[in-house]
Amino acid sequence: MRVLTFDIEEWFHLLDFEDTKTQNQWDGFEVRIHENVDRILSILEEYDTKATFFIIGWIAKKYPEVVKKIAEKYQIGCHTMNHQLVWQQSPKEFEDDVESCLKLLEDLTGKKVECFRAPGFSIRESETWAFEIMAKLGITTDCSIFSGKHAHGGMPSFKHQHPVLISYAGITLKEFPINFKHILGKNIIFSGGGYFRLFPYWLIKHWTKESDNYLLTYLHPRDLDVDQPILENLQLLRRFKSYVGIGNAENKLKKWLTDFSFTDIQSASEVIDWNNTICVEL
Ligand SMILES: [Zn+2]
Repeated sequence: MRVLTFDIEEWFHLLDFEDTKTQNQWDGFEVRIHENVDRILSILEEYDTKATFFIIGWIAKKYPEVVKKIAEKYQIGCHTMNHQLVWQQSPKEFEDDVESCLKLLEDLTGKKVECFRAPGFSIRESETWAFEIMAKLGITTDCSIFSGKHAHGGMPSFKHQHPVLISYAGITLKEFPINFKHILGKNIIFSGGGYFRLFPYWLIKHWTKESDNYLLTYLHPRDLDVDQPILENLQLLRRFKSYVGIGNAENKLKKWLTDFSFTDIQSASEVIDWNNTICVEL
């Protein structure tokens, strides 16, 4: 199965960058979310594809119409209220953050929100407490685990690259981990973000075929936005990672949707035999 997901945030919601870290700073930037979400929705419409949208509460609060428009046809997930790294939060801060985001999304859509993705795969071995909080708040399905080292987190001890049950402190969640290719000593997540933009389509296509039984994607509105402003003060490598390949990304996504079928988390979850799926103790 191939699962298509989008993290709905603004072009300036980069993690761990001083110039764009807090809400006070966000209000000063150009608003691009409307046209960027419309672009994604029209692509999904054109290719008749389902997808799950992990939305930041800050976006939902400021632009409720964006969430309502997405929720008319697509599954909504929670991407936290304020897009902070989980390992920089206390359990109490994480709980308040996720709880307020869920309430906002559920009030806006009238539907229960059961899926979650942490910003930047920032649940590490030392933040497994986050799963207990998720379960307490009614989340049944998590998409936050990256089973390797990542710039903002990652969980190298987690060895699974396909959906499994995870168990922690007596609770159980369904986990859709992000998968990657191990190339030249690096774990490359070619199914989203910078690496999706960087690599040529023929290589993405090749790796997608190789990952035939499971692929979880993660794209952002900014990945497809050729007209977004460039953030100053980013270090050279960060600048490269943030803006490489944007010009061709929409075209690449359309080819991907032509060559392969994708679905959302809900539909993927329905076809998994969870009773016969291994349960990983964290
Ligand atoms: Zn994010």
